[in-house]
Amino acid sequence: MRRAYWSADFAEAHVVEAMLRAHGVQAWVFDALLVRQDWFKTLMFGGYRVMVPDEDAARTADLVGEYRAGALAIADDVVECPTCPRCAAPGQDDPMPRRVVFALLIASDVLFTIGYMLSTGVTGMMVAMVLVGSVIAAPIMAVLFTHYLRGRYVCPQCATRWRASRPSFAAMAREVDAATSADVAAKGEAAP
Ligand SMILES: [Zn+2]
Repeated sequence: MRRAYWSADFAEAHVVEAMLRAHGVQAWVFDALLVRQDWFKTLMFGGYRVMVPDEDAARTADLVGEYRAGALAIADDVVECPTCPRCAAPGQDDPMPRRVVFALLIASDVLFTIGYMLSTGVTGMMVAMVLVGSVIAAPIMAVLFTHYLRGRYVCPQCATRWRASRPSFAAMAREVDAATSADVAAKGEAAP
């Protein structure tokens, strides 16, 4: 076995592993469960290593080269993204609302910690803060997360931001199942 690819990103290592397997190379991400135990020690553990058999090394090097050069990227018009309501260009995932939500989350944690440090012992104020934090704020946060993190799009052409719901995973799975069984049935009829 030899190392074909290295990544500090758990997901990316598995993307490369899957890409190589799709091209017939028996690739493996080594030590993934060990490395991911401690994010701060990712580099110390040597990162996520994608390993391949020696005999596939040359072919793997070509595939990894294509991956790095972006030659294997899926064309924009193949990726299913809702079209812009203003100019009908294909939309892109909008990362901004997510960033705002996480910034607020970090800020609320910092404020809570400062409040905790300022209060001495278990005071009525402390109990009230915990109650408000866990009983009232948590469900509100859950709703805010769903609202701000899902189905947010931005137009790369006119910078319009909008919200659109995607079909549920179950609905898409049913669609694929129906298409597959129709395909299998058609092939069965065609065969002698
Ligand atoms: Zn647009």
